[in-house]
Amino acid sequence: MSLSERDKKVIWHPYTQMKNALPHIPIVRGEGVYVFDENGKRYIDAVSSWWVNIHGHSHPHIAQKVSEQLNTLEHVIFAGFTHEPAVLLAERLLPLLPGQQEKVFYTDNGSTAVEVALKMCLQYWNNLGKPKTKILAFKNAYHGDTFGAMSVSGRSIFTDPFNSLLFDVEFIDLPNEQNISVLQTRITELKSEVACFIFEPLILGAGGMLMYEAKYLDALLSVCKENDILMIADEVMTGFGRTGTYFACEKLENRPDIFCLSKGLTGGTMPLGVTTCTNRIFNAFLSDDKLKTLYHGHSFTANPIACVASLASLDILLESKTLENIKRIETKHATFLNEIKDHKKVKTARHTGTIIVIEWETGDETSYLSELRNLLYAYFLDKGIILRPLGNIIYILPPYVISNEDLDYIYSAIKSALEEI
Ligand SMILES: *Cc1c(COP(=O)(O)O)cnc(C)c1O
Repeated sequence: MSLSERDKKVIWHPYTQMKNALPHIPIVRGEGVYVFDENGKRYIDAVSSWWVNIHGHSHPHIAQKVSEQLNTLEHVIFAGFTHEPAVLLAERLLPLLPGQQEKVFYTDNGSTAVEVALKMCLQYWNNLGKPKTKILAFKNAYHGDTFGAMSVSGRSIFTDPFNSLLFDVEFIDLPNEQNISVLQTRITELKSEVACFIFEPLILGAGGMLMYEAKYLDALLSVCKENDILMIADEVMTGFGRTGTYFACEKLENRPDIFCLSKGLTGGTMPLGVTTCTNRIFNAFLSDDKLKTLYHGHSFTANPIACVASLASLDILLESKTLENIKRIETKHATFLNEIKDHKKVKTARHTGTIIVIEWETGDETSYLSELRNLLYAYFLDKGIILRPLGNIIYILPPYVISNEDLDYIYSAIKSALEEI
């Protein structure tokens, strides 16, 4: 039996209707922006393997550090014990974040980083003796797939079967010039009940790669600040250079109280999440009263191998060449956007940093479930490009090491698709 057939017998894949799923392609090797299947076919990983891979596959520097760590200490319980990689990563990461981030809480992935952020905020108010339970979020937000993270995500086909069990959240529209004052008033009215506002800065990822301007987010955050509403920046997708700066929140005047990070954190090598916070949050949990403890933790909290992968990834991120690559991708995206934005099949197109988004004109109501998605996905795969459309929305979100030639190849494939599909 082929690997695809063996897979079909025993595996249940994520975000996949298994009834009519195409055979899953066995990948045997990765190098730079490429992954190779068992027949030697090469694919450009234009979506960074679900947005995690920032420096390319099988990066030798990360591989070496991980392998050294494997032979030294693979894991140790993180309550009562600590280790150098976890401490060093916190020491190096915190000063990079905008604002006074002082403490790191380790988790396993983006969803659990969000869970911890929400629990920190809710318990913060509880510990102060001023319980508040309302949470503010964006309508099309995506914060993960666990129940708390789903609750603060927009209601969608992803959450449909669970909606009645998700806790109530105040959803607001993305801010723009027209609605900003209405939104500000709304927040002010709710203020006494609202524990926190969770947001994806500048770009809402899985909700459709929706972009909005830093100045309007800042205007919302100013109202949050005035009304003592804690601010959680979910930079799980935007972190580590994705939007052109190391963190999207660097483009804001206001500083969030909490950051959630994952995806690019380990360079895409393995799962790890962090929730960081200010001492204001942290100090509210210091008490002789044991009930004020944050009772949260995962078996693999601060796994040393994952921490070492993150440290190695940070080494690469901070090289000047990486920022140059990010700027280079940004400039090329901007040029390409100009070339195609007026094409009749392009409904909307936009870009922020290393992400470019093209929404296909379909002529009627489109959705995540549209057939067009499968056509586009197969079209690019055939050309050796991994692009995973969100319905009729195509985006490129590449590892920063992608060459100009490979970018041009993807652009030209998109242009042909605009003619042919
Ligand atoms: C992907 C994502 C998450 C969830 O992260 P997982 O590691 O998939 O659990 C949370 N927030 C944002 C903004 C994301 O893009």
